[in-house]
Amino acid sequence: MELNTSLQTFPGIGPAKAKALAKLGLETVGDLLTYWPRAYEDRTRIYPIAMAPGEEAVCVAALVAETPSTAYIRKGLSITKCKIVDGSGAATAVFFNQDYVRRALQVGESYIFYGRVEGAGNRRQLTNPVFEREDRARFTGRIMPVYPLTAGVSNNLLAGMALRCVEDCAGQLPDELPSPVRQEHGLCTMEYACQNLHFPTDQEALALARRRAVFEELFTLSCGMAFLRSRRTALAGPVFPRRSVEEYLKLLPFAPTGAQRRAMEELSADLTSGRAMNRLIQGDVGSGKTAVAAFAAWLAHAGGFQSAMMAPTEILAHQHYETLTKLLAPAGIRVGLLTGSLKAAEKKAIHAALAAGDIDLAVGTHALLSEGVAYRNLGLVITDEQHRFGVGQRSALSSKAEGQPHVLVMSATPIPRTLALLIYGDLDVTIIDELPPGRTPVETYLVGEDKRQRMYNFVRKQVGEGHQVYVICPAVEEGESDGMKAVTAYARELSEKVFPDLRVAFVHGKLKSRDKEAVMSAFGRGEVDVLVSTTVVEVGVDVPNANLMVIENADRFGLSQLHQLRGRVGRGQWQSYCVLITDNRTPETRERLRCFCQTTDGFKIAEKDLELRGPGDFFGQRQHGLPVLRAADLAGDTRVLKEAQQAANALLARDPGLSAPEDRPVMEKVRRLFHEEGDIFN
Ligand code: ADP
Ligand code: MG
Repeated sequence: MELNTSLQTFPGIGPAKAKALAKLGLETVGDLLTYWPRAYEDRTRIYPIAMAPGEEAVCVAALVAETPSTAYIRKGLSITKCKIVDGSGAATAVFFNQDYVRRALQVGESYIFYGRVEGAGNRRQLTNPVFEREDRARFTGRIMPVYPLTAGVSNNLLAGMALRCVEDCAGQLPDELPSPVRQEHGLCTMEYACQNLHFPTDQEALALARRRAVFEELFTLSCGMAFLRSRRTALAGPVFPRRSVEEYLKLLPFAPTGAQRRAMEELSADLTSGRAMNRLIQGDVGSGKTAVAAFAAWLAHAGGFQSAMMAPTEILAHQHYETLTKLLAPAGIRVGLLTGSLKAAEKKAIHAALAAGDIDLAVGTHALLSEGVAYRNLGLVITDEQHRFGVGQRSALSSKAEGQPHVLVMSATPIPRTLALLIYGDLDVTIIDELPPGRTPVETYLVGEDKRQRMYNFVRKQVGEGHQVYVICPAVEEGESDGMKAVTAYARELSEKVFPDLRVAFVHGKLKSRDKEAVMSAFGRGEVDVLVSTTVVEVGVDVPNANLMVIENADRFGLSQLHQLRGRVGRGQWQSYCVLITDNRTPETRERLRCFCQTTDGFKIAEKDLELRGPGDFFGQRQHGLPVLRAADLAGDTRVLKEAQQAANALLARDPGLSAPEDRPVMEKVRRLFHEEGDIFN
């Protein structure tokens, strides 16, 4: 057996199974060897039946004491039962719809069963346990891997194949970490890591193996980002003319904050330097990033260049279009809107105008990336809420320009410093750490169901004073998840029973974009009092008159997400409020939500989020625009991340091109990791 041996050569793997495996990216032995389990079941200890703890699954070794019998209860439901015994006591093994068990379990034979032993005395029962003969035990008596699965691929199938692959081939996997790095950071070999990630001999071995895998992945990622950064500093960019920031400021209806002014000066220096800009503006929600981005577009126009601004949602694209038109039209800048929901004829007209140079600033969604969109002379690319886009999409938009355009990305998601280095490793960073004057921090309260009536009264009071209210629910439709408030049903309840005299509307991601827009603009015009919504309003929506946000099932949201949501209120000169509703009393939830009530500083909240959840959770969310990571979501703490970054920086300082023979495998790995992001390394 070799690393490139096809999995189809395994017994029992026909074309159908092979296809199912391919869905998981598994075609060869090598693929399977690097397909890491997502969890483990500790099946090492064998308990006497009478001692088995009822609350968790464990192994028992027992003799089948009677021939299993099957009862057919009704169509689609059969129950197979048999008595099993060991020296300590007896239990009934119960199997639902698993008639084959009748033949698989032999009277008088000993098996190891793995499952929860419920009940006591004569009433002990194991429901749907897995089992295997004691003398041929493969998957019990050890720590068992639990793999990500798909239809037609069972965990036992994967584990069985993995066992054979590990036994035959673990030693053939190339060790792609340069050995000085491995030694310096005390990492185990690839062979050991592979053996123990699939079938750990004990928890300690698993921890070592996991550390190696996580380190390697984060190291590769860090090298890739550092490499991107080193490569792009040399690129020439369009030269925009020097213009005084003061001239632009005349267009603004307000005086800029100090942070906004500094950001504009920084942009101005970049944009007139002759080198291509690659800058991130990170500023909390409401810090006024749009006006700063508009400055860059204004400067582009002064130099005769077009700009494009890409937003992650249609709602946001629309809003930017309106804001920017108002702001920049007086300066003679022609702004155009391009989204997926435009009619074909409208799209065609916009495409033509962009190609002819009749639009100076194109605002839109992903539609800006689509084929057939060509610019006359694109000089500046802006992406808003950049964490929603991949590195690849960023470069796809840039590729619409003739040379390398200036790139400006904006994010309202405060990222903890450790992660920021990784995610924005290829960017220079400007931070807007000041809110426009006159904003009072949002007052935030955490309440239980018992205060629901008071909350309703509070909503009524705010609306009575002429304000508007957001009500956020975690689900769209009833039945999506147990007990959670769902937008459609809850909106109906509110409008029919609770607030029959108020104007209640709802919006969620599954609506057609025209309908979404209609609701959002009605809310913007003040024609809706209470807007029931999912997190679609999370990003960028700006309705200053809304001063209360109620978040139902608040425990279902992550801290950073709550922070984004809360940023929708507190945008006007009025005192604003955020009410979190939950009856969840687990200590972690309480700590998380209480921290949220105490501060409105996004960076503090992000640090806390990272501390409470670990980076793995962050990588699992896929909201960051990084390549897909397979091992890193196993990372439980931030230390290994920091170590991997240091190691990557040290390596690149020594060998910037990663061209030394022992570093070449790292470069190969970097290419493979970023593979799905297209050709950004070419
Ligand atoms: P974000 O950084 O979240 O994108 P926006 O650019 O949407 O923030 O700005 C939020 C609101 O603050 C907008 O209504 C904008 O007009 C207003 N604003 C921005 N800068 C200032 C300022 N310097 N003074 C007063 N209001 C401002
Ligand atoms: Mg914004």
